[in-house]
Amino acid sequence: MSPVYNFASGPARLPDAVLERARDTLLLRGADGACALERPFSSPAFRATLERARQRLAALLGLPAGYRVLFLAGGAMQQFSMVPLNLLGRARCAAYADSGYWAGRAIREARRYAEVAVVARYQGATPLAAPPLANWPLPDDCAYCHITPNETGEGIAYPALPDTGAVPLVADATSCFLAGPLDVSRFGLIYAGAQKNIGPAGLTVVIVREDLLEREARYAPAPYCYRQQLAENNTVNTPVGWAIELAALVFDWIAESGGLAAMALANRRKAERLYHAIDTSGGFYQAPVAHGHRSPSNVRFQLADERLTEPFLQQAEAAGLTHLRGHCHVGGLRASLYNAMPQAGVDALVAFMADFSRRQG
Ligand SMILES: *Cc1c(COP(=O)(O)O)cnc(C)c1O
Repeated sequence: MSPVYNFASGPARLPDAVLERARDTLLLRGADGACALERPFSSPAFRATLERARQRLAALLGLPAGYRVLFLAGGAMQQFSMVPLNLLGRARCAAYADSGYWAGRAIREARRYAEVAVVARYQGATPLAAPPLANWPLPDDCAYCHITPNETGEGIAYPALPDTGAVPLVADATSCFLAGPLDVSRFGLIYAGAQKNIGPAGLTVVIVREDLLEREARYAPAPYCYRQQLAENNTVNTPVGWAIELAALVFDWIAESGGLAAMALANRRKAERLYHAIDTSGGFYQAPVAHGHRSPSNVRFQLADERLTEPFLQQAEAAGLTHLRGHCHVGGLRASLYNAMPQAGVDALVAFMADFSRRQG
């Protein structure tokens, strides 16, 4: 049987090697009789897992001094509230760049707590592009500036980071985290839901610069108060131990595969192959995002003849290429090419696309 490739945007494919190790790990009981799913969070075995996950992630990123890592329960959307609740301090205002669907949701949530200044907007006309990077009108008293470097639904990625001066830059990096090297020192805070490139859903990684922890966070619920979680070693409440265990296995797999530079190289190759196939299809397939702004993680495309979208999806699925439907608010098609998608999956998709267009004649 030929392999089936899952192009879902998240929860996304995990590396086969990680799943095999997870299976073996799952069945191992320690001297205390507890396997990784059962460990009390006060146990030395859980503490060791947490420390291992932290250290491996720090090593992958080359984490600079002065940053702390949290493995919190919940998804990226919880952070849409946790960021203002923890970082507003005495300020009333926060700046947000509106780059598409996920940025929009982050903005709507932040408006419950803060005056939101939208300092840049994406261009809605095709070819689509990230918000322009220059001259963001950051209010003097804004607590931070939030960006979404990779818009998972629109398939738009910023070509570079904005310069926000002294205003801490906060990023929802959910769909680009660990896809390549990341200069953490450019950020005040980075968060990423796990189910794209880190591990299973239910876990979110937060990396925060220590000086931001001094801000007053009166209304942050205890499990979501960064400062309190760090003071209590990530165990204010029961952490998602098994998800952290899996994340550590994914970090190992990335390190063994050559680290983040190797991820970036492989991801670039995959994305270039697919975008090239779209661009050279004589207009049969179209990519609506401008060159230089195209996401390597989430390749968005459509058929010139929209009536072919459903047959394309059905036949792709029959050929073992699944979950290619575009984001529900965006439509069209989308292939998510996170770290665990092998080149062979992209090659199979490109071959199917050529075959499909030939058959439509
Ligand atoms: C998937 C995604 C989210 C939502 O994550 P949840 O874990 O479902 O809350 C938020 N932001 C971005 C950029 C995403 O890709």
